[in-house]
Amino acid sequence: MSQIKFYNRTPVPVEMHKVKIVQKISLLPARERLNKLREAGFNTFMLHNGDIFMDMLTDSGVNAMSDNMQSAMLRADDAYAGSETFYRMNDKLTEIFGMKYLLPTHQGRACEHIIAQHFVKPGSCVIMNYHFTTSKAHVTRLGGRVEELVKDEGLIVKSNLPFKGNIDLDKVKACIEKEGVENIAYMRLEAGTNLIGGQPISYENMKEATDLAKEYGIVTVLDASLLQDNLYFIKTREESMKDKSIREITRMIADLFDIVYFSARKFGFGRGGGIMVRDEAMFHAMEDYITMFEGFLTYGGMSVKEMEALIIGFEETMDMDIISQGPQFINHCVNELDKLGVPMVTPGGGLGAHIDARQVVDHIPAEQYPAGSLVAALYLCGGIRGMERGTLSEERNPDGTEHIASVEMVRLAFPRRVFTLSQTEFVIDRVKWLYDHRHLIGGLKFVHEPKTLRFFTGKLEPVSDWPEKLIEAYIADFGEDQ
Ligand SMILES: *Cc1c(COP(=O)(O)O)cnc(C)c1O
Repeated sequence: MSQIKFYNRTPVPVEMHKVKIVQKISLLPARERLNKLREAGFNTFMLHNGDIFMDMLTDSGVNAMSDNMQSAMLRADDAYAGSETFYRMNDKLTEIFGMKYLLPTHQGRACEHIIAQHFVKPGSCVIMNYHFTTSKAHVTRLGGRVEELVKDEGLIVKSNLPFKGNIDLDKVKACIEKEGVENIAYMRLEAGTNLIGGQPISYENMKEATDLAKEYGIVTVLDASLLQDNLYFIKTREESMKDKSIREITRMIADLFDIVYFSARKFGFGRGGGIMVRDEAMFHAMEDYITMFEGFLTYGGMSVKEMEALIIGFEETMDMDIISQGPQFINHCVNELDKLGVPMVTPGGGLGAHIDARQVVDHIPAEQYPAGSLVAALYLCGGIRGMERGTLSEERNPDGTEHIASVEMVRLAFPRRVFTLSQTEFVIDRVKWLYDHRHLIGGLKFVHEPKTLRFFTGKLEPVSDWPEKLIEAYIADFGEDQ
């Protein structure tokens, strides 16, 4: 089942779980939030979690485990080498993906490190539908280059296309002809995409793209970190797949690839990662990197307790009731805000709801970080922490000028099984309030700007006293205690 039907009420997504363990969260008084934000240098990465009401920064490592996952932890088999937990995990992944070999890693980027280390040489090119920050960094670190060949239509913010993550086959063909097959390290498809709004890729597109790669003898790699949401979208949006089970769809997808890797901080509701490999020789060629960088071959830097929980988490990922929750909540949030006139990335994808900051605060110059300013303002107006995905996350050009991002977005991630619908309604309400008061939001400037990954640890300050004005307007409507 994918959605509960209603008789007389406006349909809303219904949680297919009940809550058994809770964590208290609190909403600091409004002016205290301003103090906390100031201490954090107007950078929401630098806030303490206890000062946040709705933490929608990311879906990585913050998804809720089930009762079955937690109880499985007790049977974890501790051993440096040959843990039974590892063999159970390998068997479960082989059952799901149909590939024999598992290389365990501590998280998703470690898989990317190892795959790049094995395949990328200076001057090689990696074909992708779209890059992810860490996937790209590992390729470029080794002197390789990334070609992002998503269809142009995927980058249009507002649309109703079901699969905006699809790769452009004509561009792929042209790229292979131009680069020469021997210079293509591999083709990596991300299902679903992260940086373009959690938008999915269709099974048909993955099939066509991997068929093309095979014609040329190019290795095919699936980044399955966000596969859970992508499976839901294939089942509900791709006509030819609607009668297939999630397990069948997963297997059909995996059958297209030589390698499947994932961040288990997302896929499997736990923490860790893994690379599944079909070919024995390829597996052996990569295993040294595990022992060198991750840990022994039967844990790869993961805790066996997390691994045991993941085995259940992978199985839960094959359950349509469970995987429907994230996309349905996101869709609800996106649709409601869209109806209220807030510029959103549509249609709703996986991972989170994305606000088009460039439009919302179009009076803030790109050099003053519109999305960064909006994220800071959102924390002030309700203790909601989103993530900036725009110019602030870019690195400067070599001549020191700002590299203006092609999209300027605020992402409100929905950690899986964590928030309730009433909390989602609170977020919708505050985003709408902020949208109606958007003229009060001003820009930011750096006071401490790290050279790399400046968005993580940089300190900023407002270009005027706009945060004070905004908080006074907020207090006028909601009172000082919230
Ligand atoms: C999160 C993510 C990664 C990296 O995984 P980590 O566990 O955070 O290292 C890689 N690819 C995609 C698509 C992701 O969303």
